[in-house]
Amino acid sequence: MGGRRVKNMDKKLIVAIDGYSSCGKSTFARLIAKELNYIFIDSGAMYRAVTLFCMRRNYISITWLNIPGILSDLKDIHIDFVFNPDINEYETFLNSENVEKEIRSMEVTGYVSRISQIPELRARMVELQRQIGVSKGIVMDGRDIGTVVFPDADIKIFMTASVDIRAKRRHNELKNKGVIIDFEEIKRTIIARDIADENRDISPLRRADDAIILDNSRMTVEEQMLWINEIIEKKRNGS
Ligand code: C5P
Repeated sequence: MGGRRVKNMDKKLIVAIDGYSSCGKSTFARLIAKELNYIFIDSGAMYRAVTLFCMRRNYISITWLNIPGILSDLKDIHIDFVFNPDINEYETFLNSENVEKEIRSMEVTGYVSRISQIPELRARMVELQRQIGVSKGIVMDGRDIGTVVFPDADIKIFMTASVDIRAKRRHNELKNKGVIIDFEEIKRTIIARDIADENRDISPLRRADDAIILDNSRMTVEEQMLWINEIIEKKRNGS
């Protein structure tokens, strides 16, 4: 169907993007959502916002994790994604406060995998994610979107890239923001998160049987978009 644009077609889809840390999932998912005029949800941002909440209430440190405290305060955690027209992006709000920058800190990144292992907390997040996706027309990225949150998603992608390449990308990203962190430390954090996410008891990171693998180690963002547009077009044409 040559030049037919996917965004002009009507059938609304659920697109699930899962995969390893620092693979470029959010960048990819955000671009797909823009192209299709869909909602984009960064489910990792939700777990990060809860982590920040727990840090502020002193429920987590290197040596302790107060699960009863976290669970009793779950009802006090409200997460929203609010559109910022100045940057043309959605930003993460925790209890009406813009926490988009703070949730990307190394400290939150270091703690988030422990918080995201709490079953009751995951159940709450999955419930919220399903509510957001109920009207379809959504691109969501995370670790369990194709396996648990939307097992019937129309398109499931599982992203991966080599650890060195992921660490290099993350290093550059932080350098561009003026944050200087040792490359080996970034690599260690990535490996630790992979291990924690793949080996937790509840909803571990794994490829859904019907997910298509995208190894973007040697692909540009443009090449990834060409690749996915073909898949979306086929899906919307019913093939
Ligand atoms: O995607 P991002 O790196 O921001 O995710 C942060 C963390 O949140 C992951 O390392 C993982 O522990 C957790 N997460 C999750 N399930 C999701 C999304 C993220 O457990 N669907």
